[in-house]
Amino acid sequence: MTERAVKTVLISGASIAGPALAFWLARYGIQATVVEKAASLRGGGYPIDIRGTAIDAVERMGLYAQMRAAHVDSQSIGFVDEHGTVVAKLNPEAITGGVRGKDIEIRRGDLATILYAATKDTANYRFNDSIASLEQQADGVNATFASGDTQTYDIVIGADGLHSNIRSLIFGHELQFERYIGFCFAGFTMPNTFGLDRAALAYTLPGKNAVIYATNDNGPAYAFLVFKHPISPFRKSLTDEDQRDLTARMFEGVSGWIVPQMVEAMRKAEDLFFDAVSQIHMPVWSKEHVVLVGDAAHATSFLSGQGSSMALVGAYVLAGEIATRPDIASAFEAYEKLMRPFVEMNQALVKEGKQIMIPDTHEEIDARNAMFRKMAAEARGKVVEKDSSRQVHSALTLPDYC
Ligand SMILES: Cc1cc2nc3c(=O)[nH]c(=O)nc-3n(C[C@H](O)[C@H](O)[C@H](O)COP(=O)(O)OP(=O)(O)OC[C@H]3O[C@@H](n4cnc5c(N)ncnc54)[C@H](O)[C@@H]3O)c2cc1C
Repeated sequence: MTERAVKTVLISGASIAGPALAFWLARYGIQATVVEKAASLRGGGYPIDIRGTAIDAVERMGLYAQMRAAHVDSQSIGFVDEHGTVVAKLNPEAITGGVRGKDIEIRRGDLATILYAATKDTANYRFNDSIASLEQQADGVNATFASGDTQTYDIVIGADGLHSNIRSLIFGHELQFERYIGFCFAGFTMPNTFGLDRAALAYTLPGKNAVIYATNDNGPAYAFLVFKHPISPFRKSLTDEDQRDLTARMFEGVSGWIVPQMVEAMRKAEDLFFDAVSQIHMPVWSKEHVVLVGDAAHATSFLSGQGSSMALVGAYVLAGEIATRPDIASAFEAYEKLMRPFVEMNQALVKEGKQIMIPDTHEEIDARNAMFRKMAAEARGKVVEKDSSRQVHSALTLPDYC
């Protein structure tokens, strides 16, 4: 083996992209430290999908079987009217373009837990800490941690999500790169008193959607209140109370279905996750010895359903390029050249996701429901398959790095 240009890497963020990157770096004999601001790994959470090229990435990690064992296997998504009557119902793949029997639908925290378990003995994890400042040197980066430690690394990687700390430290304010899609969401758990089992229900109004889904009838229901809002509320800093007030205000006067119950549960929820539906678009993902991966570099938004898949594929490609290129600059350039077209195609899926999830008018909602009814009728009980987005999910063929 030739002498590697890179020996030490500091990664910010221990969710999906960070631990996946640590996995591949260890495989190539590169020492990774992962710093995470949360006190511990966060389990549970909403289910996410892994599809297309990302399935190849997890197969190459040898983790496919473990992830499939945690597969949620949602059977249906139903669209209800104000009385809770289901007016259209389909299998989820008809909407997402997923492949039944092959894709993985897994709770975000379960995915993070599997990735963490596969890397905890080979990477150095620092929970409850973050990077306070970075100083680029000719041959590396000096990192000062919030805890006060200082250390030098060959490379620093931002895998710290939509509101990336590393992006702010190195590239400047998030507003330069945020493409606000025009919506906000409040996600939280509530008791599953609806008997929902591996199914989702959605009640759509113009510019609003109230969604619940459950991975089984014993566990909690995951609730989402999504609403249109003219400017990203993150332009002002919102307190937890502000986030709850804004969400409640946007659903004020909506008495249909179980919306009042959902708003009440949101008010009391201990696990509220509020955010803007935004993408990140950057002209370049690296600067000297610092590079971004996953949502930090190119958040696609949940309306694309592809954020975690992009994070897994990006981690594979970035680690492979770092391990096999003679210098850092050519590794970062090759990573971006390969990933950027794939990312852009997947970011573009948001347009369709928006039309389905949050139509603007009653007419558009009726047209969507009629289209889904027609698709379900034509399928006559069989699984409906949508091919168009599948090509996008699988548009990148992974290179072999070793
Ligand atoms: C409701 C919802 C549904 C979704 N559905 C899907 C789906 O079906 N399919 C899909 O593929 N994707 C989906 N996504 C998107 C997916 O969750 C993200 O795209 C994915 O988690 C990105 O992974 P990441 O590791 O890049 O970033 P993140 O998961 O955002 O992780 C960032 C990590 O960095 C940490 N961090 C942040 N700041 C700091 C700091 N200063 N110092 C140290 N650590 C820090 C955070 O605590 C976190 O652990 C969905 C997202 C939402 C919100």
